[in-house]
Amino acid sequence: MVPKNFKPLNLSCRQVCVCIKDYNLEQKVNALNQLGTTLDVETKISVRDLSDLSLCKYIEFPERKCSDRDCNNCGIYSVVNWYEPLITKSSTTCNQIVKYHQWETTSEQYEDRKGIKKRTNRLIQVQKKQPVSDVVKEVSKSMEQFSSHSFRSNFQQRVQSNIINELPMDHCLVVMDFSENLSLQPQDEIESAHWNIKQVTIHSIYIVRHALESTIQKPVFNNALTNRMNIW
Ligand SMILES: [Zn+2]
Ligand SMILES: [Zn+2]
Repeated sequence: MVPKNFKPLNLSCRQVCVCIKDYNLEQKVNALNQLGTTLDVETKISVRDLSDLSLCKYIEFPERKCSDRDCNNCGIYSVVNWYEPLITKSSTTCNQIVKYHQWETTSEQYEDRKGIKKRTNRLIQVQKKQPVSDVVKEVSKSMEQFSSHSFRSNFQQRVQSNIINELPMDHCLVVMDFSENLSLQPQDEIESAHWNIKQVTIHSIYIVRHALESTIQKPVFNNALTNRMNIW
């Protein structure tokens, strides 16, 4: 029986974000956006626009010196300036506390079976409660690195899609990556096996290649379901 106050995980609403930097910054900005709505201050902004505020105007990609924070005409001070009205309003309405979640690495200590103390690092999601000015400080601190981080990921993506579009015949693009610590859950499980989950590393690869008869209007897809995936 499922208890009344128990909310099952809704897999259709589950968000999987690849990168801790994006997730943590987005959580802080979302929390500030929410507070802005509550206090009726117009500081609602997306992470991308906030990053653009801290850079000189650009057409395709920002200049290197701007994202490296070596430019005299732009910088993370614009982030603090943007939130100034929110900080002022919140200090007049008894210093609002902002709540948000962050993924953090914590160091934990445990004793193994032989009684030897060991240290391990674990990623956990923690709830933060901070005054607005502290959250703004953290957002601007994260923005210091974030603009160049987002430049790199956008640039890589652009390069990859350009290569795919321009790929000559008889050439292929191969993208390979390791995913580690993937948990295997048995279809039929006995109760006592519940805590004894096997973990595997998978090496996923995708290959892009244009077929001779393929055109943009009429693409040809290879139904390569016969390829076996190996797990080791
Ligand atoms: Zn990222
Ligand atoms: Zn600049």
